[in-house]
Amino acid sequence: MIPVVEKEIIKLPSDQDISGRTFGAEEIAAITEVLQSGVLITTKGKYGKLLESAFAEKIGSKFAFACNSGSAAVHVAIAAVNPNPGDEIVTTSITDMGALTPIIFQGAVPVFADVDPKTLNVTAETIERVLSDRTKAIIVTHLFGNPCEMEDIMELADSRGIPVIEDTAQSFLAKVNGKNVGTIGAIGAFSFQQGKHMTTGEGGIVVTDDEAFARRMFLFINKAWGYGDQNPDHYFASLNYRMTELQAALAYEQLKKLDDCVAQRQQMAALLDALIADIDGVESYKPAPNATMTYWKFCLRVDDSKIAEGAVGLAKALKVYDVASAPRYVVKPAYKCQVFREHNTFGDSHFPFNLARPEAIDYNDGNFPGTIKGLHDVLVLPFNEKYEEHHIEFLANSIRDAVGACRK
Ligand SMILES: *Cc1c(COP(=O)(O)O)cnc(C)c1O
Repeated sequence: MIPVVEKEIIKLPSDQDISGRTFGAEEIAAITEVLQSGVLITTKGKYGKLLESAFAEKIGSKFAFACNSGSAAVHVAIAAVNPNPGDEIVTTSITDMGALTPIIFQGAVPVFADVDPKTLNVTAETIERVLSDRTKAIIVTHLFGNPCEMEDIMELADSRGIPVIEDTAQSFLAKVNGKNVGTIGAIGAFSFQQGKHMTTGEGGIVVTDDEAFARRMFLFINKAWGYGDQNPDHYFASLNYRMTELQAALAYEQLKKLDDCVAQRQQMAALLDALIADIDGVESYKPAPNATMTYWKFCLRVDDSKIAEGAVGLAKALKVYDVASAPRYVVKPAYKCQVFREHNTFGDSHFPFNLARPEAIDYNDGNFPGTIKGLHDVLVLPFNEKYEEHHIEFLANSIRDAVGACRK
């Protein structure tokens, strides 16, 4: 009889606690300094401004404005574009809800573009299908740290004079032709939420090179109060989206670690790629030849003609090794969420959906074949900058064994 070899389970670092995060003495010192100064508000403290100038320099933008979440960052970006009620904003069918509801709150209609099932990203082709003369902006999301095909998308958007907002919440320092995402379109919106490349628990930042957008972005974060103006006033309807000095100090220190975070993720992803390359039935996500990927998560496409129950089956098999993966990522396309299906917005008005062209809000699965296929096939593996070689080897072996157990 063949003896049963007990496989050693290695606990993978998690971005939900310190095992997968990089907080250390630097962060503690900066936060302590803020507390001891007693200045917790960024309009008076130094760290908000330090963070904004350091972030702009790191990412390669003229302006950066910190705010208190990634959702706020997307909202600020949309407010900068200043849509009229009923204007359309093209976005992706697969993303975080925090990137979508801000469209509604600015009175614009979210119009979903389908995605490429191989990347789960929107493409110039899927965007072009849903453009109209009411399109006010296009939001592209570089999902999992893998850049969208920005050359084609910018060519399309520029030819129509439509600004592109990049949702860079998952794609810190990912590049297209050597340029950081977030600086290719008109505005970039980052999140510092717990699980992102750099974090303050909750937080975000927006970047732009455009002075008019920058002015509106600054104001929208600051109750539209004209700080520093000769006759300041509250110029338009906006919110308080400021982060605190405590968060800014933390983000300022986290930013210094971003290069190492990205390098480590890329190295470990390359190793994992190499170790699983020969496993038939699973395939990892690859960046386009002109792009680099910064691996917010590590995703597999699972071929259900070879693996029983596809991504769901493989996730079950991986659980045996304590690997918590997520088949179907956000589980369903955004347009299937109740808020969009029932137009649950302001009172019983259904605003702004009541102003929409019917074709713009036709949420039939038949319009989204790439989304359906992409979500069906994807398995999202946990990943962060604390992964080391032994974690990757364990993960690769677990994938190999799990695929073996599920093979049809
Ligand atoms: C995390 C995330 C957001 C929202 O950020 P929060 O900080 O959670 O509000 C928006 N878009 C994408 C793609 C995200 O991953």
